[in-house]
Amino acid sequence: MQAPTRPEDAGGHHPQSVPGAGSELPARGEYVVRNAHVITMDETLGEIEDGDVHVRDGAIVAVGRGLEAPDAETIRGDGLIALPGFIETHWHMWGAVARNMSGHVEGTGYYYVSRLLGKFFTPQNNACGVRLALAEGLYSGITTVNNWSHNLLDPGYADAEMRAHLAAGGRACFSYGYSRKTPKDSTLPLEDIADFQDRWFKGGTRTPDGLISLAIAPRGPENNPIETCATEWEFARARGIRVTSHMGTNPKRVDDRQGIQTLAKAGLLGPDLLLIHVTHHSDEDLRLLAETQTPVSLSPYTELRTGFGITPVGKFLEAGVPVSLSVDTTILCGNADMFAIMKAIENIENGRIEDEFAISSERVLEMATINGARALGIDDQVGSLTPGKRADLILVRTTDVNMMPKTVPTRMLVQSAEPNNIETVMVDGRLLKKGGRLTTIDLDDLVKETAETIERARVEASVPGAGEGIQELI
Ligand SMILES: [Zn+2]
Repeated sequence: MQAPTRPEDAGGHHPQSVPGAGSELPARGEYVVRNAHVITMDETLGEIEDGDVHVRDGAIVAVGRGLEAPDAETIRGDGLIALPGFIETHWHMWGAVARNMSGHVEGTGYYYVSRLLGKFFTPQNNACGVRLALAEGLYSGITTVNNWSHNLLDPGYADAEMRAHLAAGGRACFSYGYSRKTPKDSTLPLEDIADFQDRWFKGGTRTPDGLISLAIAPRGPENNPIETCATEWEFARARGIRVTSHMGTNPKRVDDRQGIQTLAKAGLLGPDLLLIHVTHHSDEDLRLLAETQTPVSLSPYTELRTGFGITPVGKFLEAGVPVSLSVDTTILCGNADMFAIMKAIENIENGRIEDEFAISSERVLEMATINGARALGIDDQVGSLTPGKRADLILVRTTDVNMMPKTVPTRMLVQSAEPNNIETVMVDGRLLKKGGRLTTIDLDDLVKETAETIERARVEASVPGAGEGIQELI
């Protein structure tokens, strides 16, 4: 629902690609966004009406009014809100080609379907899912994703996914996870991960261009013995890699396994660990997360859809636990719309505690930007429009029918906006969505490739006996 303001904006709900897209990344230019309503998410700079953002060689040079930038190409900001790109913190991207495949009866649910289809995916199929997820994410203003990759049947899968990231040009954390081939109670394939780190990250934690950081995604203490977790955590910490794990989705496991308290006793909580969901927890769990500043990632649409419970965002905030937001999987939640996720977070909390004033749009916008950057350990690079940080920003139209008239910009973003309102997406100084169109992913190719991928996997998965043993896998 939008009224395009200019002919080149007419993208409809199906984002169009530009000819020749995908061959190489656009150059990092020198740009100045002029006269936008700038929401910096920087505590000192705040919001600037009729503000400018000057970008050069992928970095933010200056933010303010009437900036001098004689050599910069002007990007008109009238009628637009400029803000940092969204940073989502948990997404099983490989499965994006199975969008909406989880059914509503036993034997067709998310876990069964994703594990079954995943068995038949090739490295190229995983990469196709990542490419689709990146296309949707970039179109929707998500400039950083946490690719929580848990269908890595061998290292070739991780390599194929990395190539998809580099070709699309967005920022990412690559969280190297387990697969159907990782035996129960065993660690992640640590030798493979060490080799992966050496090859792609030159032994460090970011790729040479700084766009992709590395984490590991183990099964965690609700599924594995704490000794296994300790080995994984020690491996990661010795190499400067962050850790991210699912937690607290099942009340029985919270009671029986006491995952958070077990991690605390073993000294494994901390700001370099990101826990996912944690919809079920004890008061003591919250106290431990706050004390150690261990962040959580909340994905309200999958938490609701799969029955993990009502996302208890206010309880984390009250306890002082850092909160960021995520897509999780479009197999369950249908799409990757961070505006909708923010709106759900605000409305769920107000409804949950029956208070119109429980949570503000400003607070929710922090979760989708700077808090996400902190949760992934990249707040030195992104998360706010601060001079010196990398230039990841989006421009959102306020003149579309679902946005007008301009009132309170933070509320317009959280309560009214949708991906179609995003005119421009810049990552590291590169324009990856321009005039409403993606510049690095060819959508005509993607339509064909995604259809072929899911059709082949469906045919192979429908062979009698294909699903044997799937329910027992974790
Ligand atoms: Zn997940």
